Amino acid sequence: MSKGRSINLDENELPREWYNILPELPKPLPPPIDPSTRKPVDPRKLERIFAKELIRQELSPDLWIPIPNELRETYLIWRPTPLIEATHLERALKTPARIFFKWEGVSPPGSHKPNTAVAQAYFNMKEGVERLSTETGAGQWGSALSFGCMLFGLKCRVFMVRVSYNQKPYRRVLMETWGAEVFPSPSDKTNYGRSVLSKDPNHPGSLGIAISEALEDALSYENARYSLGSVLNHVLIHQTVQGLEAKKQLEIVDEYPDVVVGCVGGGSSFSGLFWPFYHDKVTGKAPKSVEFVATEPTACPTLTKGIYTFDYGDTAKMTPLLPMYTLGSDFVPPPIHAGGLRYHGDAPTLCLLVKERQVKAVAYDQVAVFDAAVTFARTEGYIPAPEPSHTIRYVIDEALRCKRTGEKKTILFNLCGHGYFDMNAYSEYFEGKLQPWHYPEDAVRASIEALRRDVPWLSEVENAYLR
Ligand SMILES: *Cc1c(COP(=O)(O)O)cnc(C)c1O
Repeated sequence: MSKGRSINLDENELPREWYNILPELPKPLPPPIDPSTRKPVDPRKLERIFAKELIRQELSPDLWIPIPNELRETYLIWRPTPLIEATHLERALKTPARIFFKWEGVSPPGSHKPNTAVAQAYFNMKEGVERLSTETGAGQWGSALSFGCMLFGLKCRVFMVRVSYNQKPYRRVLMETWGAEVFPSPSDKTNYGRSVLSKDPNHPGSLGIAISEALEDALSYENARYSLGSVLNHVLIHQTVQGLEAKKQLEIVDEYPDVVVGCVGGGSSFSGLFWPFYHDKVTGKAPKSVEFVATEPTACPTLTKGIYTFDYGDTAKMTPLLPMYTLGSDFVPPPIHAGGLRYHGDAPTLCLLVKERQVKAVAYDQVAVFDAAVTFARTEGYIPAPEPSHTIRYVIDEALRCKRTGEKKTILFNLCGHGYFDMNAYSEYFEGKLQPWHYPEDAVRASIEALRRDVPWLSEVENAYLR
């Protein structure tokens, strides 16, 4: 225990259980829909794709899910992570607000993602799985899963979105160092990848395509399973170690947040931070009213401009239809640098909470985001990844607002990754080459119209499950 700028927990204070929001949502979560039956997916059908224990967690009605001891020992490689008060930033902004950040960049892969990667590798290993296949956009998830598989003796195959594969060679080498095989997606390793390449040999790739390839690859080998780094409930559950630790750390300095804010690509890092505070709120345990804010890029504005409906999780339409805000599963993102935030949908739990106005969403363009990242780096010193820099933009604006109004807000956010593999993006920012991209609303509308043509019974399931 410590009371300084950096608030640290002892090893024995690492959480023993994860928190599950499902039983405490304002409405029951709409189910994923199986397009072949137009009914909720039969969980047994998922057993060929995910470890059984992960499917159990995905649907679990339990509020608390125990963290096995063997896994807690693995978490101790880098957890508990520090909670740091950004005193240098506070001083530079001359704000009366207190700004705390949960620093997840201390993990070996450099982000929050190993919180679930090691858990997924562990539960798969327990069930005798030999290999995991996955996709990665910016390379963060691929690195995290490579690291998790290495720790528990599993093979790992990563389909990496081609633009990132070319832009970020060191992420690939990092994965290979931990023993993974990495392919640029679209690849010639799968039928789906080959079909995309035959139409456009220079296709830049997308997360949706890479998911389709990883799924196909997992289905091609009996003892392989697929692994997803965000969006699904079990992933978000594993991430709650962040919020559970942060709550204890704030208690040490007698603080409680007025606002909890995080960036959203699929929603796992932000949910992992705010869920435990949401639990306080719904159970009447929060000492004051607390607000939850999600940040995202204007180039991929899922929560602020997407449509709330059922959509596929991937481009080849292999996944069930998920109840979420979506830009359309054929979304090909503009080439922005926040690679981890370029997914067309978001976690169904988060989408429900936005729909029910429990969570507010705001979008920023990448120039405004890098302005904030550099302000942070030049005060606090840490180099933030582009993804959490969306949150830093919000935090700085909010702290400056507090300066004008004199409000003494306590702001909590997660600095969910470092930016050492993103120096190319910083360099383009310094050279004035970054564009303030805004994804056009017309494109969203066109995608959703295409979805409705493709799934003529969409309004039936909307009426049945989204009311
Ligand atoms: C992957 C990633 C994200 C986006 O994914 P979420 O599931 O929304 O957390 C954000 N930040 C970093 C550093 C990432 O690696």
